[in-house]
Amino acid sequence: MSDIVCRKCGEPWNSYGARDGEMTFTEYKRFMCGDGCPACNFGTICTQCRGTGREPAAFNGIECPECLGGRYLIIRANIDGDVWRYGYSPGIRILGYCRAVVKSSKTITMQDADGSNRREIRVIRHYSIKRTRDGSIIELMVACPYCRDSAPPCQWCKGTGEYHPHQEGEHIDEFLDSLMDGTDEDPLAYLGGGDLL
Ligand SMILES: [Zn+2]
Ligand SMILES: [Zn+2]
Ligand SMILES: [Zn+2]
Repeated sequence: MSDIVCRKCGEPWNSYGARDGEMTFTEYKRFMCGDGCPACNFGTICTQCRGTGREPAAFNGIECPECLGGRYLIIRANIDGDVWRYGYSPGIRILGYCRAVVKSSKTITMQDADGSNRREIRVIRHYSIKRTRDGSIIELMVACPYCRDSAPPCQWCKGTGEYHPHQEGEHIDEFLDSLMDGTDEDPLAYLGGGDLL
């Protein structure tokens, strides 16, 4: 069995891995319909910069102590709390305070504990709610606000972070070919739900 190639971004996925754990069942169904994959957030983020809109430090050596040059932060808050934190123990830091986050919103407004210094932070990705011993946790991937101005814009998406197909366009032929080779399921069962047929 060979890999199945994402129609939107060309990311190769092992068909067993994708079906058994790397994607949720809903994600797998969308992937098989040609709707994209988690790497391109289903055709919504630039795969060159992972949706940050900035060139990662690996490309230009401009470091950032907060995101370590990745240009994004994974932030989390308790579902009924307002403190957003990032990093890992013992280096956990507070990004800011924000009460409600609307599912699928593209920005989040952070402020300091006393309500001052309001600023917009761009949300790249919403993760599903995680249940932990400390309660239910919301997790977001956001563009790192600390190196936003110093890091050069991604040349691929011109700094927007939005999905931008490769110059050759989407990977439709590779996707269809890989579907035929990459799975023992009937690809037509999924394709019927997409817009290719
Ligand atoms: Zn993809
Ligand atoms: Zn940064
Ligand atoms: Zn980009």
